[in-house]
Amino acid sequence: MTVVKNPPPPDGAPQLTSSETDALLEQLNIKWPRHVTELHVHLGGSVPLYRLWEIAVDRGIRGIGSGYEDFINIIKIQDGKVKDLDSYLEVYDKIELIQSGPASVRESIIIAIHRAYRTGGMIKLGPGGEGGSPEGLFAIRRFELRWNPLKRTGAVFLKGSHAGLYDMDRVIKSAVNAVEEVEIGFHGQIQVGHIFCFGRDLTFEANMALARKTRLWREKTNKIIGIDLAGHESVNPLSSPRKLEEMRIVFEEAGPGLGRTVHVGETTHVDVETFIKTVEVLKPTRVGHPIAAIRALWDKKDDRGIKILKERGIVCELCVKSNLLTGAVKDLPEYGRILSTLDNYGIEYTFSTDAPSLQGTSLAEELLMLLFSKAATPDQVLKALEVADRASFLPPHAPA
Ligand SMILES: [Zn+2]
Repeated sequence: MTVVKNPPPPDGAPQLTSSETDALLEQLNIKWPRHVTELHVHLGGSVPLYRLWEIAVDRGIRGIGSGYEDFINIIKIQDGKVKDLDSYLEVYDKIELIQSGPASVRESIIIAIHRAYRTGGMIKLGPGGEGGSPEGLFAIRRFELRWNPLKRTGAVFLKGSHAGLYDMDRVIKSAVNAVEEVEIGFHGQIQVGHIFCFGRDLTFEANMALARKTRLWREKTNKIIGIDLAGHESVNPLSSPRKLEEMRIVFEEAGPGLGRTVHVGETTHVDVETFIKTVEVLKPTRVGHPIAAIRALWDKKDDRGIKILKERGIVCELCVKSNLLTGAVKDLPEYGRILSTLDNYGIEYTFSTDAPSLQGTSLAEELLMLLFSKAATPDQVLKALEVADRASFLPPHAPA
């Protein structure tokens, strides 16, 4: 197989040369903040592919293809390869295996933080996620990294029905240390927190095991800042009252003082009734990709999903390229319509990359995609960056 060096842009995105990009940037004349917060990024999607390859080779992981180019083709998520959330998530199983164990988790987190700091503001990246443009529009200085420690115990394919090869306490301890060490290394120029993701695809017992560990470690460190629910909505949309009650118990077990966000409504597997119940029961202050609530309004004039977001002041975490790749959003013009709808109802939103390394993007690149296609105005983008600062689960004061 050959590497696709320049995958076609998602529907509606103009493909530009660097001089065209410069000209458009000059035209827009945006006063970018120097430092920004990115709050919806998965560890599995945050290690540049060439680094992931190095880790896989070093650890002797099997099933990584017949060479580097083949590996990139297997792992990179690009247009034409992914058709929905389920196929988007398939690649995570492999990555979670590569990232399993205390040593790989530590290495992955250190790399992920460096990636955010160094390349998050760059408008171009190399094919393996290498930094591509020397000057960034801004730097990511506050960073929330989400992942599932249980899926880093070396038994990801068993979906929690096996305790795994590695000890979860060691995995978490390693992750906490990695953040503390990098923050010291950067002399406070980047602030990082972990969000632990429960899995829609995990059993209740497995999620409870992670919840108990979250509570235990939350008492020992301030680097665990929140909890999330992620994974296949098709497997467990939480439409069954019993499943939703189980997830409520899991969230409670994780303990007080943690920020709460939930991936909900990214696919049609979650209808607006389930969307509302999930928000009522799990009580998040932020939600990931709540597209179901917006579609209910558009298609059925049902504004209950939108209203609950408004009434509770819930912030929407939007991830542009990821939503286009999974088909959650059809194209960039439709993205623009989503933003107008949220603005009309006074609902706040943020932009993040979700899986920058798998998608081969940076936050800056995705924001420019919105701006250049006129799906978002400069005001909408700048406001979203401000909202991200404010809605972050990290302690309020950014480092000096
Ligand atoms: Zn996500």
